[in-house]
Amino acid sequence: MSWLFSRTFVAVAAVVLGVLLGRFIGGLFGEPRLGGVLGGALCIAVLALVDAWHGQRLMAWLRGPQSAAAPRTTGFWGELAYRIERAMRTRDLAIEHERGRIAQFLSAIEASPNGVMLIDGNGQIDWCNSVAAEHFGLDPVRDLRQRVTNLVRAPAFVAYLQRGDFAEPVAFSDTAGRRSYSVLVRPYGDGMKLVLSQDVTERERNDAMRRDFVANVSHEIRTPLTVLAGFVETMAAVPLTEPERVRVLTLMTQQTDRMQALVADLLTLAQLEGSPRPASDRWLPLAALLRRAEADAVVLSNHRHRIAVHGGEGIELAGSETEVLSAIGNLLNNAVRYTPEGGQIDLRCALRADGGVDIEVSDTGLGIAREHLGRLTERFYRVDGSRSRETGGTGLGLAIVKHVAQRHGGSIEVQSEPGKGSRFRLELPASRVRQGAAVEA
Ligand code: ADP
Repeated sequence: MSWLFSRTFVAVAAVVLGVLLGRFIGGLFGEPRLGGVLGGALCIAVLALVDAWHGQRLMAWLRGPQSAAAPRTTGFWGELAYRIERAMRTRDLAIEHERGRIAQFLSAIEASPNGVMLIDGNGQIDWCNSVAAEHFGLDPVRDLRQRVTNLVRAPAFVAYLQRGDFAEPVAFSDTAGRRSYSVLVRPYGDGMKLVLSQDVTERERNDAMRRDFVANVSHEIRTPLTVLAGFVETMAAVPLTEPERVRVLTLMTQQTDRMQALVADLLTLAQLEGSPRPASDRWLPLAALLRRAEADAVVLSNHRHRIAVHGGEGIELAGSETEVLSAIGNLLNNAVRYTPEGGQIDLRCALRADGGVDIEVSDTGLGIAREHLGRLTERFYRVDGSRSRETGGTGLGLAIVKHVAQRHGGSIEVQSEPGKGSRFRLELPASRVRQGAAVEA
C-alpha cells in the first residue's frame, strides 16, 4: 500500500501547490480565487497527463512481445508494471515446467517397445510414437491431423474402429503380409481413442512352430504305435507258427526302438532348451572325446565304412562333455547312415587362426541337394524320410547339433553335393578353446 500513500500525498501536495500558486498569480491580477481554481485544475490535468503517459508506456509493452523488461518507474505505475511482469514470469515458468513434463512423458512413450497413437473425436491422428508409425506405415509428422482410416487401410483395423467394440484386441498384417500386429483401442476423454499396437510376428511364428512340433511328434509316435497295435491284435487273434512269431517280435522290437530313439532325442532337446549354458571353465580333452565318438561310430558302422580321426591332440574345449559328445555322435551317426558300404568317414579337429576350433565330420556318402541345406537343422526336416526312418533316424539329430553348437557360442556349417558326400563343421569360439602350454599347466 506504499504506492497509495505516496500517490495520494503527491496528488494532494501538487493540487495544494497549484492552488496556492494560482492564488498568488491570480492575486497579481486581482483574481486570487479564480487563480486558485485554475491552478488546482491545471495540476490535476498535469497529473492526469503523466498518468496517461505511464499507462501508454505500460500498454505498449503489454501489446508487444514483452521481450524487454517492463517500463521502470517509481510509485503506482512502477509497482503495477512490476507485478504484471512477475505474474507473467511465474506463468511462463509454469508453462515451461509443464512443457518439460509433457516432453518427458512423450519421450517415455516414445521409448516404449509398443506403438502408441492418440486419435481425436473426429478420428484424426493427434500424436503417434515412431513404433506406431512403423506398425501402421505412417509418417509421425506429416500424417498428424489426418483421418486414420484414410491412411491405415487394413480392413480388419478399419472394421474394428467402426464397430466400436474394443473389449478384445484385433490382429492385422502389414500390406506385404510379412509382419503381424495386435491392436487394442482404449477410448478416453470426449470421443478420443488411445491405440496400442504390438508386433506379434515372432510370437505367432513361435506358436506355429510349437503347433507344428506337437503335430510332428504325434505323427512320429502314432505310426510305430499303429504298427505295434496291429501286431498285438494279430498275435491275440491268430495262432502263429514259431518263425512267424519271431518275425513279428523282431518287427515289434524295431518299432519300440524307433519310439525309444524318438523319446530320447526329445528329452535331449528339452534338456538343451531348459538348462543353463554349459560352464566355460570345465575343460574337456578333445582327443579323448573324438576317440570315444569314433568307437561308437565303428560299432554302428559294423566295419562297413573306413572311419578315421585326425587332430585334436593337446586341445581342450570348455563345455559339457555329454552335449559335445552327443553333437559329434549325431554327425558321425548321420555319416554312417547316409554313406553306402565301403565309404570313407573322417572326423577332423583343427584350430582356426582366430583361436577357435572346427570339428568336422565328412563322408563320401549320398550328399544333399543345395535346396535342402538351409533347412537341415529344423526339427523333423528330412531330405529322404523313408531312408531316415529305415536307418533309425528321428529327424532331430541336426537340431540337437545346432542347439549344442549355439549353447557353446558356436554354429554349424554344411557343405554337400549330391553323390559326392557331405561335410558338417561344428565351429566353436576361441573363448572355449585352449591348447598346448595352457593344457599342460
Ligand atoms: P535324421 O534322424 O533323419 O538323420 P537329422 O536331423 O540328423 O535327422 O538329419 C536331417 C536330414 O539331413 C536327414 O534326414 C538327411 O536327409 C540329411 N542328412 C544329415 N546328415 C547327412 C549326411 N551325412 N549325408 C546325407 N544326408 C544327411
